[in-house]
Amino acid sequence: MCVFCSIVKGDIPSNKLYEDDMVIAFFDINPTSYGHCLVVPKEHCDSFLDCPTKTLDHVFEVAQKLANVLEEKLGCDGINVLTNIHEAAGQSVNHFHVHLIPRYANKDHDS
Ligand code: 5GP
Ligand code: ZN
Repeated sequence: MCVFCSIVKGDIPSNKLYEDDMVIAFFDINPTSYGHCLVVPKEHCDSFLDCPTKTLDHVFEVAQKLANVLEEKLGCDGINVLTNIHEAAGQSVNHFHVHLIPRYANKDHDS
């Protein structure tokens, strides 16, 4: 089973910030910046390329809500919303996920 399926199942602990019946969001274990988190569909798909449209819509709906929360709560100055497809593009976990990476004008918050 893949690492994100294990997180969805609860076999691997995670620092969750959102969950519903289709999606889970948790903080990245190796954050690029303060507040870096991942939005992950509960049902396994390998990447953005094979995620069903309905799931994709919901993942991005949740990503948009959480991006607004991050901006409001963390006071970041910008956010990268991104997904990597395949190893050549930096994908290391082959279970589709969207990164939310808050950015700060004051670089002290970047790790
Ligand atoms: P990718 O490189 O596939 O776009 O992103 C995978 C992300 O998942 C990486 O930023 C990595 O730090 C994160 N990650 C990998 N394993 C775990 C884990 O077990 N728990 C959490 N919270 N994040 C993980
Ligand atoms: Zn999986």
